Amino acid sequence: MTRTMQPFNPMEATMSTISPNNAKKAIVIGGSLGGLFAGNMLRTAGWEADIYERSEHDLDSRGGGIVLQPDVVEVFRRSGIDTAHMDLGVASRLRTTWRKDGSIQNRSPAAQTQTSWSLIYTTMKDAFGDDHYHRGKKLIEIKEDPDTKEVTAIFADGSTSRGDLLIGADGNGSTVRQLFWPDNKPTYAGYLAWRGLVSENAVPEDAKELLGNFDFANHHGKTGGSHMLGYLVPGEGNDTRKGHRFYNWVWYRTVDGETLTDIMTDKEGRARGFSIPEGKLRDQWVTHVNSDADDYLPANFRAMVKATQHPFAQAIRDLTVDTMVKGRVILVGDAAFIPRPHTAASTSKAAFNAILLAEALKKYPDDPDAALKAWMPQQLMLGRQLYHQGTSAGNHLLFQL
Ligand SMILES: Cc1cc2nc3c(=O)[nH]c(=O)nc-3n(C[C@H](O)[C@H](O)[C@H](O)COP(=O)(O)OP(=O)(O)OC[C@H]3O[C@@H](n4cnc5c(N)ncnc54)[C@H](O)[C@@H]3O)c2cc1C
Repeated sequence: MTRTMQPFNPMEATMSTISPNNAKKAIVIGGSLGGLFAGNMLRTAGWEADIYERSEHDLDSRGGGIVLQPDVVEVFRRSGIDTAHMDLGVASRLRTTWRKDGSIQNRSPAAQTQTSWSLIYTTMKDAFGDDHYHRGKKLIEIKEDPDTKEVTAIFADGSTSRGDLLIGADGNGSTVRQLFWPDNKPTYAGYLAWRGLVSENAVPEDAKELLGNFDFANHHGKTGGSHMLGYLVPGEGNDTRKGHRFYNWVWYRTVDGETLTDIMTDKEGRARGFSIPEGKLRDQWVTHVNSDADDYLPANFRAMVKATQHPFAQAIRDLTVDTMVKGRVILVGDAAFIPRPHTAASTSKAAFNAILLAEALKKYPDDPDAALKAWMPQQLMLGRQLYHQGTSAGNHLLFQL
């Protein structure tokens, strides 16, 4: 994988991508939420956008929870989605903190809506359509033409795509960042999130009080090292009807680097890096999560963890960059900044990146460089602010700092 700076040779191209109607063209690397937000928003600025996703198949997370933030709703709206007549998620009204002995430490009003990764993904994917969404396209190299400033993406299958702008929306392990920002690497924060989804109708009796009163529930370990939270999210097929939803729980636990590597090695012995999906966690770690639940959690959360068929896990990592623009190559979403999940802002930050990028490109229709210059400062400010907010919340919750 090398970053190269060579004039573009049209004979190399296997995918002709220069727009016939002279609209400017963006190459978006990564077809998850950040890429779909960018692709949909660029169209509103009159740009053509092609999304290249390394996965051969539709992405899937069965519906892991995401707190719905206004910027995501705004991207929906600007993409032509009738948000007024759509179930965007499950509302919660109260936030309840449980003690280990099962009593309530605190309950206060905190209205919010919880949606799911799948709901946002399928909504954005439907809005974008299939014609310009290319699966099985793993970026391995980028070329820039110093004269025309055009950028060429080169994929592992030998095909290429050329455009006026390349958007790295390829997440926390971003290839675009590795090529153009080789010194900016995510660092492990010292804890992971065990996660689980339980069908609402399979929630055991001992855990049912967590469903009551439209709650967002949590439990803080007294001596640090453990922070649990849970809430309802849409179920299979984005179903928000009572009885058809999922209970989504997230349990942060401190884990050293060596143990993390072991957890992230799946049932087939494959090293998964920093997240392990449902059904891939080794049995010994499923047993470990259940026995840890006995030691650390109140009875309701304990029962919920034990009712989870396939817990999964995600390491918490930090990433910042000093610039999001290098020539006509830019970073958005988790490729640029990974805010800790306590901010509930990773997805909304990706939405904000995309909305304002489209606004800047609209403002400077013939000058992408001026648009990128105008776009970046506010994006960096948001990324840094979320970094500070997230690290201070996480370090307090997990390490009592
Ligand atoms: C399958 C999946 C499920 C998720 N589920 C949840 C969830 O339940 N809750 C939650 O809070 N967050 C979830 N996330 C993370 C969440 O999407 C992000 O934190 C946030 O929305 C920012 O997204 P992103 O698009 O910047 O990065 P990501 O969501 O990480 O997406 C990056 C995309 O780029 C692709 N990619 C990486 N390298 C290359 C390459 N070289 N060439 C082409 N494509 C490449 C990846 O396959 C991926 O689809 C999930 C992410 C994925 C991919």
